[in-house]
Amino acid sequence: MKNRILLFVVILGAVMILTSCNKENEVAKPVITIHELGDGDSHGNDHTAKIGGELHMDIDVVAEGKIDVIQVIIHPEGEHHEKDGHDEWEVDSIYTKFSGLKNTTFHEHIEVAATAEPGDYHFDFIVTDMEGNQSSAEAELEIIEE
Ligand SMILES: [Zn+2]
Repeated sequence: MKNRILLFVVILGAVMILTSCNKENEVAKPVITIHELGDGDSHGNDHTAKIGGELHMDIDVVAEGKIDVIQVIIHPEGEHHEKDGHDEWEVDSIYTKFSGLKNTTFHEHIEVAATAEPGDYHFDFIVTDMEGNQSSAEAELEIIEE
């Protein structure tokens, strides 16, 4: 009798372990598709934006585990020199308004500072879901003089 109870406990334990493993596998990481990245005025898709203008972003996000936060990071690629008092233009924005959604079309614009230097920039798009899964997508970006 004792052995049976012990066996039952062991089986129950094994089932619980299997169940928790399955649960982890069930929730897929967020899937990010960058559709468009470009000039804000024309909602362009040539991966360029003008100094003093806006960057247009059209990005699809599917998050089975529900979106928690979306982060956009833009930083200069390679060597940028500070000249004429220009500062390095960098973006690190957190978007929480999509929190709780399973999928969304992220259509947002980011202002390109008038003091930004022209050149190559790196664009990072990071999605964290409510299960703690994280996915990211990246793209090249060119900032041009108006
Ligand atoms: Zn747009």
